Amino acid sequence: MERERFIVGIYNYCDYWCPRCAFTRRCRNFSMGDALEREARGEPPPDDTGNAAFWNRLADTLGQAAASGRAAEWDEAVSEDDLLEPDPAWEAREESLQQAVEAHPLTHLARDYRTRVPPWLEAADADLKRVAAEMVEAARGGVGVDALTNEAHDIGEMIEVISWYHTLIPSKLNRALRGMMESGDEDLSDLLAGFRLEDANGSAKVVLIAIDRSMAAWLRLREILPDREDSILGMLALLSRMRRMLRAALPGAESFRRPGFDGEPEEDD
Ligand code: SF4
Repeated sequence: MERERFIVGIYNYCDYWCPRCAFTRRCRNFSMGDALEREARGEPPPDDTGNAAFWNRLADTLGQAAASGRAAEWDEAVSEDDLLEPDPAWEAREESLQQAVEAHPLTHLARDYRTRVPPWLEAADADLKRVAAEMVEAARGGVGVDALTNEAHDIGEMIEVISWYHTLIPSKLNRALRGMMESGDEDLSDLLAGFRLEDANGSAKVVLIAIDRSMAAWLRLREILPDREDSILGMLALLSRMRRMLRAALPGAESFRRPGFDGEPEEDD
């Protein structure tokens, strides 16, 4: 059934790299984005009124409409004044939480890494072009063309991996640290604190995966660009330190089961 195909919350703990994701069909976020893009391009929705998918999507829409109807009822129960009234306690709490996240050493490491990557890639551009030219020259000789082709793909892949994850790491880390700190808030119920910690672990797991993949990419680049070994070792040291600190801060991260990616979830929405 189409309705059962979506995995609840899969997009909360993914790396947002949709073109490479094996779960696009089971991700509601992706599916909605796809529909919006079609609409923006002025394309009609697929003509599938004769199949179950159409009716299940309609059922989803009806369910959402019903939920909005209820939302309207709830809205009426809250006066405008209540909504506009600032909540100083909440604002103060948010501000101090944000300050604590900003001051955390992991935030500094992640930002340092994010700042260092783009100039590194720019500076390595000439070396990479030289490697590419050498590969083209070798291929002209007709020897080991397949191996050269694979190596060229490899280089492109490593650069893409590093480029993708260097911005994802700080943003996911921010969410992990927020959740971790919120879970220690004494004013929070045990249930809510548990949810926050769980979310922090899930976000931290995504960061750990991003770190591992980035480190693998740097190690491969180190073989290809031995002249840049020192700067690559610097990146590896930074990532390794981040990984160690994050594992210590959120020991439950590695065993967190990401819906879909770490096995079938127990129920769909
Ligand atoms: S789960 Fe996959 S398809 Fe959905 S947002 Fe994440 S990367 Fe994209």
